[in-house]
Amino acid sequence: MPAETPAAAESVFPQLEALLPHVQKPIQYVGGELNSTVKPWDACDVRWALMYPDAYEVGLPNQGVMILYEVLNEQEGVLAERTYSVWPDLEALMREHGVPQFTVDSHRPVKAFDVLGLSFSTELGYTNMLTALDLAGIPLEAKDRGLDDPIVLAGGHAAFNPEPIAEFIDAAVIGDGEQAVLDITRIIREWKAEGRPGGREELLLRLAKTGGVYVPGFYDVEYLPDGRIARVVPNRSGVPWRVSKHTVMDLDEWPYPKQPLVPLAETVHERMSVEIFRGCTRGCRFCQAGMITRPVRERSITGIGEMVEKGLKATGFEEVGLLSLSSADHSEIGDIAKGLADRYEDDKIGLSLPSTRVDAFNVDLANELTRNGRRSGLTFAPEGGSERMRKVINKMVSEDDLIRTVATAYGNGWRQVKLYFMCGLPTETDEDVLQIADMATRVIQKGREVSGSNDIRCTVSIGGFVPKPHTPFQWAPQLSAEETDERLAKLRDKIRGDKKYGRSIGFRYHDGKPGIVEGLLSRGDRRVGAAIRAVYEDGGRFDGWREHFSYDRWMNCAEKALAPYGVDVDWYTTRERTYEEVLPWDHLDSGLDKDWLWEDWQDALDETEVEDCRWTPCFDCGVCPAMDTHIQIGPTGKKLLPLTVKNPS
Ligand code: SF4
Repeated sequence: MPAETPAAAESVFPQLEALLPHVQKPIQYVGGELNSTVKPWDACDVRWALMYPDAYEVGLPNQGVMILYEVLNEQEGVLAERTYSVWPDLEALMREHGVPQFTVDSHRPVKAFDVLGLSFSTELGYTNMLTALDLAGIPLEAKDRGLDDPIVLAGGHAAFNPEPIAEFIDAAVIGDGEQAVLDITRIIREWKAEGRPGGREELLLRLAKTGGVYVPGFYDVEYLPDGRIARVVPNRSGVPWRVSKHTVMDLDEWPYPKQPLVPLAETVHERMSVEIFRGCTRGCRFCQAGMITRPVRERSITGIGEMVEKGLKATGFEEVGLLSLSSADHSEIGDIAKGLADRYEDDKIGLSLPSTRVDAFNVDLANELTRNGRRSGLTFAPEGGSERMRKVINKMVSEDDLIRTVATAYGNGWRQVKLYFMCGLPTETDEDVLQIADMATRVIQKGREVSGSNDIRCTVSIGGFVPKPHTPFQWAPQLSAEETDERLAKLRDKIRGDKKYGRSIGFRYHDGKPGIVEGLLSRGDRRVGAAIRAVYEDGGRFDGWREHFSYDRWMNCAEKALAPYGVDVDWYTTRERTYEEVLPWDHLDSGLDKDWLWEDWQDALDETEVEDCRWTPCFDCGVCPAMDTHIQIGPTGKKLLPLTVKNPS
């Protein structure tokens, strides 16, 4: 007979329900979405709570969580439920009424699960993790947790440097999660079946010894008198010096999510997404996602077709996004776009392809996917304002390429072009950024000429550059918030001062302040954890949301928390690192060879570009030999056929 559910694992819905009439958007907390899963608690021996540490509307569409939720729930004897950050209004009521952090699927307390797996796309979710731990009744620091607390496990891109949250997590996994969660499940199951020998420590040791799970508590960090790291040393035997990332090689073997979740409340994406490939080798030097997900692994055209078909049937969505880091780069994207457009032509299914590639082929693809639809706006990302800057960042786009591309877009009926740039890139000067205005002017000129209309718009959107770990810019100084704001103000003035074209140019930018906090957390080490905790205790929540983010709170808390260590926010952000410096994430192996990254950083300073290894010989970034992987692209030679025969003769 299965054991009875312990009281600690019982649903808290009756208590929660009484609070919901008093909070905003209560629907986000009730669960029961189409394709959600509730498995019997007592029939499972390994139980995961999966958290995206942001509000439901951002967290629900997250592909990483959706994939792991399904992969785990497909296993016999394993269950996975989801939990999201609760808004401050519900948090206050939960504290007042003693309701713990719960899963939305069966409203069980998060503390009752074996694992709390957190997916961090961005570092700005760290304070939300602390809120959730505290609401769950799980001690904030790993060292204070006992046998009845879940293993707190971090994943996602930000986990490639989990050092700032080292005190708060028990473990981290870097890279693809599909296989990793199954391996971890097996180890937990064995350990539980054996009667939990050696307690929590033994379980973590077993996980760490696989070489693919990082347990920060098993590593000591030694510092030099000047504040830099001297070395990071394992403090248990059998624990590897470097922890490897996980790479799933054959995406066709992992066609997840097969049954995507359909949200109950409004979310940031109201569509189904199919990941068409993973990884990117274009080599944009600022792009952490591209660097850490190497090599490129494509899903086959037939695999994509099947996922789209099954997913649409399972969800009833009317829009499909073909996801990847640069979707126009799939070796068979032309056939994929045409095949899907043919197949769904009569079904009013919208197809979208998030790609910002600056070339005419990208416009052709967008045309194909909007055969019947409205041609509103197209986005291109030259990223750097000047030709020189684009050489530094390895974005091989000339201004003439861009003008040719926008001419094609306007000529095909697109009326609005959005250009995405970054400010604060290494070696950048005011002049590099001011050239963005010249480019936008040329775009409008060309648009008016090609379309024969003055009703043409170009929006310039600018983000602040934040140097990231495991990229060639990991050694670069970050531009201060004040300098970023000054530079952007000059650009704004130049655009507004243009009487002839300025009114056709939209200008969107963020101030430099959030970027400094992101920079502190991205390249921080364990000492930064004290600042995160201080911000959380001071009320910091939802740092990715403009209305909740407080720069002053972060700066005040960080100043006090870091002072005892003799370092400060500038030390972590605007300071340039040297070749010799031990970086906080050096013991986490993304596969990229550190010397190759350094050479690429020097190439950046020399304004030398590097080709994409998908189409040229390997240039030894180190990933493939280190991870025993390889570039995996088509063509497969297959075509997507319409599912229904049209006009039968
Ligand atoms: S090892 Fe070579 S082929 Fe593999 S991602 Fe790096 S450069 Fe490309």
